[in-house]
Amino acid sequence: MLKSGFSESFESAVCAFPLAPLQAGPNPVVTDQLPITLPRAKADSRAESFADALVIGAGPTGLACAIEAQRIGLKVVILEKGCLVNSIYNYPVNMVFFTTPELLEIGDIPFACASPKPTRRDALEYYRRVAEHYHLHIYQYTWVKTVTGRDNDFRVTATDRFGAIHDFRARKVIVSTGYYDLPNLMDAVGEDLPKVHHYYKEPYPYYDCDVVVVGGKNSAAEAALDLWRHGARVTLVHRDERIHPNVKYWVRPDLENRIKSGEIHAFFKSSVQEIALDHVILQTPTGSMRLPNQFVFALTGYHPDYDFLRSLGIELSSEQFRPFCDPETLETNVPGIYAAGVIVAGSRTSEIFIENGRFHGKQIAADLRQKMWPMEDGRALAD
Ligand SMILES: Cc1cc2nc3c(=O)[nH]c(=O)nc-3n(C[C@H](O)[C@H](O)[C@H](O)COP(=O)(O)OP(=O)(O)OC[C@H]3O[C@@H](n4cnc5c(N)ncnc54)[C@H](O)[C@@H]3O)c2cc1C
Repeated sequence: MLKSGFSESFESAVCAFPLAPLQAGPNPVVTDQLPITLPRAKADSRAESFADALVIGAGPTGLACAIEAQRIGLKVVILEKGCLVNSIYNYPVNMVFFTTPELLEIGDIPFACASPKPTRRDALEYYRRVAEHYHLHIYQYTWVKTVTGRDNDFRVTATDRFGAIHDFRARKVIVSTGYYDLPNLMDAVGEDLPKVHHYYKEPYPYYDCDVVVVGGKNSAAEAALDLWRHGARVTLVHRDERIHPNVKYWVRPDLENRIKSGEIHAFFKSSVQEIALDHVILQTPTGSMRLPNQFVFALTGYHPDYDFLRSLGIELSSEQFRPFCDPETLETNVPGIYAAGVIVAGSRTSEIFIENGRFHGKQIAADLRQKMWPMEDGRALAD
C-alpha cells in the first residue's frame, strides 16, 4: 500500500502492542521539544501514527527490512523522501545492472527478467511489484528530519512535499538511507556552476558539445561511452593511472579501445582544477591544460549523510565513518536503532550493495523477534 502524501489516515499501522507512555528520564522526549527548525505550529501530529518498526528509506534494503519485520508480526511503516526505490529511479535512464536478477531479489519473490542483466526499468518494476505484493505501508515524499526518544518510544518527525510536518512514533527504527543523495565533490573552483552535474541521466542534450567526464569507475566509464556514442566530444579525467579494474567486463575494454583510438580523450593521474563558463583547467602530469568545455559530469562517487546519522546519536568510526553497530544484529550504539544497507560500510560504499545489503533485513528481524517476541509462541508480550 503506497501512501503518497497524507490524505489517508494511518488506520492500519496500529501497534501490535501499546507504546509505553512518555517517561521523564535523562533524555526526556516530548514533541514540543523538537528543534526550532521545524515550526510546531505547522505540525500534523497524529496519535494513530504508531509503528512497531519504522524504516527510513524505501531502497532495496529498506524494503527487505520492512518485509522481514512484517513477517515476524510487527506493524511496519516506511518513510521515503522521494519515490519508491528513489536511488534506482535516479540512475542513468538506460542503466544495466552488473548483478544478475536473482541476486537482487528480496522477500523470496523471483525477479523474472528476459536478459541476463536487468535494466533500471526491470528493477523499478520488480521492486514496485514486491512492495505491492507485501502491502508495505510506504509514505513516499516524506523526508525524515529528526529522530528523538529512546528504545520502545521513538519520535520521528518528517516533512512532506509541501513542507508540512508529520510526527510518527515507533518502538524501533531501522535506518537504510543509502548514499546516493550526496556526491563526493572535486573541490574544484566553479564546481557549483549549473553546467556541472554530479548525476548522469542520458546523452541527448549533449550532442555536438565539449563534455568532460570526471572519474574512472562504472558511472564515469558508462557515461563517457554513452555521450561519445551520441555525438558529444568527450574528455575523461581520472586521478588514477588507469580505468578501475572493477568496471563492468563489457564496458572496460570498450572504453579502453575508444581511448586508444583517440575517439575519447583521456587524462590519467589528472584532476579538474577550475571550471569556467566556456572552459576547464586540468592539472595533468605535464602541467596545467585549458580545454574548451560546455558541460562537466563529475561522477566521483557518493557518500551517506553522516550528519543525519550523527543526529540520531549514532557513532561513526573516525576514518571510514562506519556506524558503530553489532555486526550480527546491526543494532547501533543507540538501543533500538538499526543500520541497514550501504550505510553500514560508511565511506566504503562499494563493500555493500544490493546483492549483500538485502540480507540485512533478516539479520535485523532475527534480533527484533528476540527482543519483541521473546516467548516461543511469539505473542506473549501482546497478551
Ligand atoms: C549507477 C549505479 C549502478 C549500480 N548497480 C548495482 C548493481 O548492479 N548491483 C548491486 O548490487 N548494486 C548496484 N549499485 C549499488 C546499489 O544501487 C546500492 O548499493 C543500493 O541502492 C543500496 O541500497 P540501500 O537500500 O542501502 O540504499 P538506497 O537504494 O540508496 O535507498 C536509500 C533510500 O533512502 C531514502 N532516504 C535517504 N534519506 C532519507 C530521509 N532522511 N528520509 C526518508 N528517506 C530517505 C533515499 O531517497 C533512498 O530511496 C549501483 C549503484 C549505482 C549508483
